[in-house]
Amino acid sequence: MSNQSTKNFQRRIEDFECLHCGQHVEGNGYTNHCPHCLWSRHVDINPGDRLADCDGMMAAVRIHKKGERYRILHRCEICGHEAWNQSAKKDNFDRLLALAKSMGKV
Ligand SMILES: [Zn+2]
Ligand SMILES: [Zn+2]
Repeated sequence: MSNQSTKNFQRRIEDFECLHCGQHVEGNGYTNHCPHCLWSRHVDINPGDRLADCDGMMAAVRIHKKGERYRILHRCEICGHEAWNQSAKKDNFDRLLALAKSMGKV
């Protein structure tokens, strides 16, 4: 076994550290936002493509309920890019509701 590559060959599915709240987030291949604070990161131009090089933090600014599912609108703090994301099962539901409420009756 002397031939092992020293390259770090980590192919876990997008685990990341939330840069907003500092929590470790286990990716499941679908979610790209933090289930604790709901913030995301501007890494996609289109969902999942990882082509954006902005890398700004994206705040959850709106919630939209469609059927049983919630969708979250993320807005990049740096460039203002907005993107809708499906909320994940693990998402902090209190925060989802708080965000929905903070939107008021708009
Ligand atoms: Zn977070
Ligand atoms: Zn951006």
